[in-house]
Amino acid sequence: MDAAAAILRAGGLVGIPTETVYGLGANGLNGEAVRRIFEAKGRPQDNPLILHVPGADWLERYCRNIPAAAYTLASRFWPGPLTMILQRRSNVPNVTTGGLETVGVRCPNHPLTLEVIRRADIPVAAPSGNTSGRPSPTCAQHMWEDMEGKIDAILDGGPCGVGVESTIIDLTCRPPRLLRPGGLPLEALRDALGEVDVDKAVERGLAPGEKPKAPGMKYRHYAPRAPVTVVTGDPVRSARYIRRQGRGMGVICFDEYAELFPDCVVEPIGPAGDKAEQARRVFDALRAFDATDVREIYAQCPDEGGLGLAVANRLKKAAGFHVVEV
Ligand code: AMP
Ligand code: MG
Repeated sequence: MDAAAAILRAGGLVGIPTETVYGLGANGLNGEAVRRIFEAKGRPQDNPLILHVPGADWLERYCRNIPAAAYTLASRFWPGPLTMILQRRSNVPNVTTGGLETVGVRCPNHPLTLEVIRRADIPVAAPSGNTSGRPSPTCAQHMWEDMEGKIDAILDGGPCGVGVESTIIDLTCRPPRLLRPGGLPLEALRDALGEVDVDKAVERGLAPGEKPKAPGMKYRHYAPRAPVTVVTGDPVRSARYIRRQGRGMGVICFDEYAELFPDCVVEPIGPAGDKAEQARRVFDALRAFDATDVREIYAQCPDEGGLGLAVANRLKKAAGFHVVEV
């Protein structure tokens, strides 16, 4: 942890474990260091990063006009898989916020990373630790696959317990707006705040020419090399639909249906009723197909209650919103 903190303070790059996915961290106040994140990932420059802090008592350092809702959410859900978009102070460099006047802030629930941030005494800017466009890494090994030779260290904190990225809520508008579903369910936010809008980009891709609310929304994400088709609807019907598509394909399915596809490369993501398990496994499943020669992938998709909204969103983004409803 001391070595990781020292690298961060010196402007280097460290892979950090969090409960959601592994992050690629740098000193979020050092524009040069943050620029290296974009280089290592091949990430478009206008896609903003999240500042990781050890608690709500650091919010005033980097944000202004902080609404009461921020402290309500922090006291309920931090440390945890929730990122808040707030107005930034001028000490946060443009390269960290993708040129926006707002900044995303989160307190991750991982003891090693919290301790590293405290020892470094700097906010750690980190996107997910994958090469831009690829599925996010949920263990140190996956991060190594993408980042070997490009970064200074990876702190191995074991496999991620949540498996999908943080939920992002914009608190600079009224009512607050969900920009990305993630490890904290929308229902929990509504329970804490009342009304919460859901950005249209959660449900579908941007229409040609449509202006994104957050730059990250305009990029293809999480995708394996083979094209993905997401099949929504009742699992018995979606399994039957996928079976009719032929042989030799890649299939992401719920555990109960795995034996229906004997001639396919099958990646089960957990029981149909266990969305937390599906969240933990969805990126590993997407990533696994790149070691095979499948030419197309079909995926069963959970309904959108609870963590299902995040799992469905990651699958649909991996599919470029190519969705079949059965
Ligand atoms: P990643 O977790 O790798 O997707 O990277 C962080 C994500 O946080 C970006 O893709 C954005 O969608 C989001 N984000 C970070 N800062 C902001 C911001 N100021 N406004 C809107 N979205 C943001
Ligand atoms: Mg990412």
